[in-house]
Amino acid sequence: MHVRARHTLPVLLAALLLLVMPGRAHAATPVYSGTGWKIDTKNGIHSLSPKPYVFTFTDTASRTRLTPYAQAAATQLTAVTGTTFTVSTTIETPPAVGSCPAEHHIILGVKYRPTGTKGMSHAWNCFTNRPGQIDYRSAWGGWTWIDSEYWSTSSWFSTNSTVNTARIKNAVTHEIGHIVGLTHPNRDLDGDGVVESFECAKTTYGYLPVMCSPRGGYTTASGGGQFTSRDTPGLKQLVANYGLG
Ligand SMILES: [Zn+2]
Repeated sequence: MHVRARHTLPVLLAALLLLVMPGRAHAATPVYSGTGWKIDTKNGIHSLSPKPYVFTFTDTASRTRLTPYAQAAATQLTAVTGTTFTVSTTIETPPAVGSCPAEHHIILGVKYRPTGTKGMSHAWNCFTNRPGQIDYRSAWGGWTWIDSEYWSTSSWFSTNSTVNTARIKNAVTHEIGHIVGLTHPNRDLDGDGVVESFECAKTTYGYLPVMCSPRGGYTTASGGGQFTSRDTPGLKQLVANYGLG
């Protein structure tokens, strides 16, 4: 009896471990949305690669204007994701819509009403389409055109110059966010059956995620252009999803 009892406990422990192990495996399931963030699976992006990405520019004037914005985004993206983002001085022409730029290139440019609509900027993103490879459906890179009206018309976003400056920065960061794999996290929070503009889960201090449509982000001098505390879990999840298909 005593001998049998001494063997029973290890067997029970082994059985319990077997029960626990599949639960641990579930931690490696990809996740595509959370409170105030959403990954752009509609455009095929599921993850962010650990290999470096580089910012380039469409022309010298855009490079002069956007380098500080790109640098701020690169610094935060590197800190949050662990993937290295650098800002180059390279000038390159974006591809035709439907094509993709060089791998891990994020091309930034400024032009007047790139979509034809007043005040609208737009990003075109790509994903890595190599089924069976670890980088399948990770962010490939892409390009964005930022509407020049933000700079050419004074107080475009606000008559408060601090807020106006922050919102211009947020607009650039928002488009970069699309290229690294985030989409608008707007949801029907008030339950009226309609997903409305600006209807996004806010930060503790009442700011919309920078990825909210049509815009969001911090409006302070130091916070403008930063991914908010609602956006950063999405950036981290993009990295966590890498290699999970
Ligand atoms: Zn957007």
